[in-house]
Amino acid sequence: MNALVKYPNLFAPLDLGFTQIKNRVLMGSMHTGLEDIPGGMARQAAYFAERARGGVGMIITGGIGPNREAGSGKLSTPEEAQEHRQVTDAVHAADPDVKICLQILHAGSLARSGESVAPSAIRARIAAHVPNELDEEGIEKQLSDFANCAALAKEAGYDGVEIIGSAGYLLSTFLVERTNQRTDQWGGTFENRMRFPVEVVRRVREAVGKDFIVIFRIAAMDMLEGGMAWDEVVTLAKAIEAVGATIISTHFCWHEAQVPTIATMVPRAAFAQVTGRLRKELKVPLITSNRINMPDVAEAVLARGDADLISMARPMLADPELVLKALEGREDEINTCIACNQACLDHTFTGRLTSCLVNPRACHETELNYLPTDKPKRLAVVGAGPAGLAYATIAAERGHSVTLYDSAAEIGGQFNLARRIPGKEEFNETLRYYGRRIELLGIDLRLNTRVDAAQLKAEGFDEVIVATGIEPRKPQLEGIDHPKVVSYIDVIMGRAEVGQKVAIMGAGGIGFDVAELITHAGVSASMDIDVFAKEWGIDFVNHPRGGVTGVKPVVATSGREVTLMQRKSESVGKSLGKTTGWTHRLTLQRRGVKMLNGVDYLRIDDDGLHMLVGGQPTVMDVDTVIVCAGQLPLRTLFDQLEASGQKAALIGGAFEASELDAKAAIQQASVMAAAI
Ligand code: FAD
Ligand code: NAP
Ligand code: SF4
Repeated sequence: MNALVKYPNLFAPLDLGFTQIKNRVLMGSMHTGLEDIPGGMARQAAYFAERARGGVGMIITGGIGPNREAGSGKLSTPEEAQEHRQVTDAVHAADPDVKICLQILHAGSLARSGESVAPSAIRARIAAHVPNELDEEGIEKQLSDFANCAALAKEAGYDGVEIIGSAGYLLSTFLVERTNQRTDQWGGTFENRMRFPVEVVRRVREAVGKDFIVIFRIAAMDMLEGGMAWDEVVTLAKAIEAVGATIISTHFCWHEAQVPTIATMVPRAAFAQVTGRLRKELKVPLITSNRINMPDVAEAVLARGDADLISMARPMLADPELVLKALEGREDEINTCIACNQACLDHTFTGRLTSCLVNPRACHETELNYLPTDKPKRLAVVGAGPAGLAYATIAAERGHSVTLYDSAAEIGGQFNLARRIPGKEEFNETLRYYGRRIELLGIDLRLNTRVDAAQLKAEGFDEVIVATGIEPRKPQLEGIDHPKVVSYIDVIMGRAEVGQKVAIMGAGGIGFDVAELITHAGVSASMDIDVFAKEWGIDFVNHPRGGVTGVKPVVATSGREVTLMQRKSESVGKSLGKTTGWTHRLTLQRRGVKMLNGVDYLRIDDDGLHMLVGGQPTVMDVDTVIVCAGQLPLRTLFDQLEASGQKAALIGGAFEASELDAKAAIQQASVMAAAI
């Protein structure tokens, strides 16, 4: 079907009067770390230009500060503006119709230096320092620095700026009483509290003139107990509109809020309804965002009238050509963002360069390229898990002839377990993507085929890549073969009975996922916005302060009594993802799951699980013990190949099982396939 028929709203240009945005998709702002490294500007130029070629209407850069105290990466001098030319020129050369706006981010109390400033000297829950309270002179300096930064952005060739007024950064901390306890004209009443953000926008507009895009990012639902009331959100948005914003972009939550807003457990487009409500109050176009990762989801939001523009940030890391593929009717080729945060936000918040689990080229465009080979080879890839899939498809794309084997009936390896966990439904998209790539690249896929060294030798391949994955670790423990003991694979595949009282041995990613599976009840929150809202205590209908004030989370549970345990003394769940681990811990705690560390397992028998807890002997009366005790590399085939003198390479779990996840497996396979 013609894209303009299928996506009439998505591909309609947006007329801003002085300029047009060619379609309704923008790449949302993401701090990637490229802003802060030597040579980062050239890498950003390549990164953004690739997205411009991929069809987006507008790009917002990662956040840049207006001054030193704002946090990392600043634009405050003409010399710095000159450097940004690399980015704006590259984007406009890639497609002159694509707009690029600089995000001006003043982190306020969240800036990592001791120079941080804020309306009041109140340390944010997640901040390292108590900020310095701004005096009148300091406030004036910040205002003029914002104006200067915006003027320099214009000089650098940007089409506009986005001012972030949400997330717990400087502007938003003026808005709520918990962080603004001033008694002067910048604090107290809401009119006073909103004075600073409104004045920032007014000064910025004054500095850039009228034909320049000014976007204001507002916390339309800040998810804070005692946060902004709905009438305050509307009052602020109207005031921002009145002083010259071109577009208002809605944002949900502060970084310190305890509600997940972008993790994979959040339903697609869950928050667009809030934008829709605000849109009714304003004349300027509105942007919505959060968990909109496919074109049909974006089209539905626009068709409902919930927004004028759709921001996709992480989906542009996963697939720079998302919009182009939608335009050309190739949606089944989109490499969908699965909202895992593992290579993007988890990296950002631990000081590592951003990338993407499903696309390791993201932010590495100048370093990792899949160029055509001048020496095509016949390759066998054994194992169609994430490592084998990435390797096979990249090698085939480069011109190698690839045969891909798997003993299972479907591709995916352990992703076929992961996708069965409530909240991980997005993992299906990755398998759909690889399935289509296999078809398009003409890879010879042989499922239900367990191969051995002799078969591979008979086929006469130039090289064999062993991606056979792992086998679960079976702890050496008396009673480990007792009928109460089951493996996580059998539980997830529904092949093992799970009783009422359960011990989960091992509290890594898989232990947590299994706990989620067996304590979950009803529809998965990730698939139903109402269930999600109930589970996290959000009231979308009445919008109390912050959307959450006074709303108690109501979590459905299977009623099983579950204990998740580990031998280490560190807190349970510490190794989970930086930005998502807390959501898993909190969900399970709310379902009554007990978490035990420092456990020493002794034996399993009819009485249950015998162990030492804090050195004290204990018997836990359980019906089922589920073993989630890590994994070991499965190298039977590799050992056979070596013994028979055949050349083979190891990738993924077969190479290294500890510290292995899909991010590492795909990254390693991609780098190796780019080099063969
Ligand atoms: P595997 O996925 O194990 O694939 C190996 C493949 O080889 C299998 O399909 C197997 O059938 C095949 N095979 C083996 N021997 C042969 C043979 N002789 N002949 C033919 N075929 C053979 N990781 C994350 O990063 N994020 C997550 O959120 C996440 N969640 C997970 C949830 C669960 C429940 C599980 C179980 C895992 C999860 N993982 C997650 C881990 C991730 O899935 C693995 O790290 C990843 O699958 C490893 O990829 P791989 O290709 O090396 O091996
Ligand atoms: P894991 O994270 O290494 O956890 C293994 C668990 O088993 C640990 O809790 C460990 O704790 C315990 N253990 C290790 N040896 C044991 C033994 N001999 N006896 C008893 N317990 C033992 O591995 P995993 O949970 O199997 O996950 C596999 C991979 O998939 C991991 O890399 C993980 O990151 C990835 N994954 C990621 C996610 C995600 O959401 N990002 C989800 C699922 C899986 P103690 O040693 O302290 O007992
Ligand atoms: Fe999306 Fe995960 Fe990639 Fe981040 S790492 S962009 S969340 S798929």
